[in-house]
Amino acid sequence: MDEFDLIRRYFTRPPDDDAVLLGVGDDGALLRPEPGFDLICAVDTLVEDVHFPATLGASDVAYRSVAVNVSDIAAMGGQPKWMLLSLTLPESDASWLADFSRGLFEAARSYSTALVGGDTTRGRQLTISIHLLGVVPAGQALTRSGARCGDDIWITGSVGDAAAGLRLMSRQLPGNDDVVLLRQRFARPSVRVRLATAIGRVATAAIDVSDGLFADLGKLLDASAAGASLDLDRLPLSTSLRRLYSGDARDLALGGGDDYELCFTAAAEHAETIEAAAVDTATPVTKIGTVTASKRITCLAGGVPVEIADRGYRHFAES
Ligand code: ADP
Ligand code: MG
Repeated sequence: MDEFDLIRRYFTRPPDDDAVLLGVGDDGALLRPEPGFDLICAVDTLVEDVHFPATLGASDVAYRSVAVNVSDIAAMGGQPKWMLLSLTLPESDASWLADFSRGLFEAARSYSTALVGGDTTRGRQLTISIHLLGVVPAGQALTRSGARCGDDIWITGSVGDAAAGLRLMSRQLPGNDDVVLLRQRFARPSVRVRLATAIGRVATAAIDVSDGLFADLGKLLDASAAGASLDLDRLPLSTSLRRLYSGDARDLALGGGDDYELCFTAAAEHAETIEAAAVDTATPVTKIGTVTASKRITCLAGGVPVEIADRGYRHFAES
């Protein structure tokens, strides 16, 4: 199977989207966005053994690669639309490719995104890079920099699950419900696109949690030149996380990455609107703190200040 058979067989499906004038097959994709929208572009690369373990199944690798990009578009309040897939493969293994392609198109369907092009190369280490284009009504994109002193800080879903799930992948364990759920939270993160668009008008800033809540909230606050007071007793921890990691659930929730939950800020007067949006979109949300003027994050547990050292995951970090 050469490169072109591979592209035809696994990655060519006519997209059900009138904005795609030309998809896979020509020198480039030809897209016609609707007037009145701004374009959001994001790219995320996943390298085997760096971003996911080699034991992760091909369909999950593909699903996750799409989801992490969708998460960036959602964090800007946008709707994901068109993606390009850049794939580096050590070999062309038909059964691996069939699974990968299945997971990719499953994710594409869940997030209403069309694959419109890409590139396929041979290389030593499995590497998946997805470029995703999304749209947002003109001038309405959510950024990291709008948080204001006094705003509430919110987080969707629960945090720490994916980091726990990743730990569980390297261990042979009987697959009880908690183990399965936590692994699934790593393999197939549920990106909060609908909530993100629903809160677009009231949220002041947003970021998706990829490197850990503490680190990513820190980036939002830096961009907003603000600080925060965080109530650790309010961190949303799943029942499965509490059951399997009772000792370090809180550390996983603050420092563990890969959850792709949405952290956002909004003026306190909008709390009811946010809770209504949460109900409408069936997305749990929790208020975990308040934006302050101090330029640092103060954490409270049981009303007492606690020191948190975590700075989140960084490539090329010294330690
Ligand atoms: P060129 O040599 O003109 O760059 P390529 O051989 O790289 O063309 O790609 C041929 C067509 O297939 C292009 O439309 C490209 O976007 C698409 N394509 C290549 N690899 C992939 C892939 N992994 N997924 C989706 N489309 C792909
Ligand atoms: Mg090419």
